[in-house]
Amino acid sequence: MEMKYDHIMVRFGELSTKGKNKKDFIFRLGDNIRNALKEYKSLTYQVRMDHIYIKLNDENPETVIERLKDVSGIYSFSLVIKTDTDIENLKNVVLDLLLKENKKTFKMRAKRADKLYPIISDDINRIIAGHVLKNSEYKVDVHNPDVLVSITIRNDAAYIYTSDIVGAGGYPLGVGGKALMMMSGGIDSPVASYLLMKRGVAIECVHFAAPPYTNAAVIDKIKDLCKELNRYQAKIKVHVVPFTKLQEDIYKYSNESYAITIMRRMMYRISERLAKKYKCLALANGESIGQVASQTLVSMDVINAVTNMPVIRPLAIFDKTDIIKISKKINTYAISIRPYEDCCTIFAPKNPKTMPKLEEVEAFEEKWDYESEINDCISNAETIVVTSENEDNLKNYL
Ligand code: ATP
Ligand code: MG
Repeated sequence: MEMKYDHIMVRFGELSTKGKNKKDFIFRLGDNIRNALKEYKSLTYQVRMDHIYIKLNDENPETVIERLKDVSGIYSFSLVIKTDTDIENLKNVVLDLLLKENKKTFKMRAKRADKLYPIISDDINRIIAGHVLKNSEYKVDVHNPDVLVSITIRNDAAYIYTSDIVGAGGYPLGVGGKALMMMSGGIDSPVASYLLMKRGVAIECVHFAAPPYTNAAVIDKIKDLCKELNRYQAKIKVHVVPFTKLQEDIYKYSNESYAITIMRRMMYRISERLAKKYKCLALANGESIGQVASQTLVSMDVINAVTNMPVIRPLAIFDKTDIIKISKKINTYAISIRPYEDCCTIFAPKNPKTMPKLEEVEAFEEKWDYESEINDCISNAETIVVTSENEDNLKNYL
């Protein structure tokens, strides 16, 4: 009999959710896995309440494993041999597997998920280990074995595996609804997007562009960043808002040191309107406490005062060095550091307020009809759709 890893067993860990939520979680994960692996046409799937099984058929396990590592909601997964539960068969399969591994020590770890199986776990371990010891040079090492052979016995089959691959964790994309991410093209916002998606929240993006002060290369940057994020969400919409007029008027009507505060209040107002239009339940951005003048708690308070929507700030408490580490891991760093002129950098005042006062901000804002400019921003926004080949994984909730 030929021994071969023929399946991948996907674990979701201990779900705290029960009942219908658990079902939603697992079915959503099943759909997301199928879509992430769509190009591997021979794969077949079995979605169960305990695990998801992927049958490899003729596909290359290495490439499939690499793709699976990016799918959020997976706790861990293993390459497994699915085989008959007959104990004689198990003895031979394990011996064969260990001979192929060509190591020195091993340990058996059997588990009977099917309690009707006639042999208890300890005896399964003992019988198989005895067979291996008799027919090979292997020794048992219970503390630090070269190969840990796990067997799970179910009523349909036995599953044998020797490795555990750590998954992305978090929740399946989509179970957490959808947020509107403020995407600047810098280092922080793609990382914030990634962390949010890992929590199961899908994103749509808004980008504020101020041509001719900002150039078209920023848009290419945003597209390239979203292409990298397509590994986690196959279809990302970016609403590009023409922000020039509003930006100029902010500088015309307000004191320079207040410009950033007011600019960000305008961004929040527009984002809230877009979020409602596109059915996003929250705003999100890459703000991090203390990173710049507009991100002190006093500033955040004054800026946040324009909206009642939840504003998610995944990076609120992160150090920049940790943010950069993540951005390198998800391949967005090299794109983010490409030189570009963002509307924040160009208009950056020399002495931005770290302790803006709400009354003063409101006094500046009363000087002109920014509402109609906000309306123009909304109606003139253009939507770009960035997709990977597996673009339909969001069809249910975008
Ligand atoms: P990043 O924070 O992504 O590195 P940044 O440092 O240039 O870019 P900040 O000035 O720190 O941006 O702004 C904080 C957050 O505000 C960003 O993370 C982003 O979510 C949002 N933001 C800033 N500029 C823009 C923009 N032009 N369009 C959309 N969102 C923006
Ligand atoms: Mg930043």
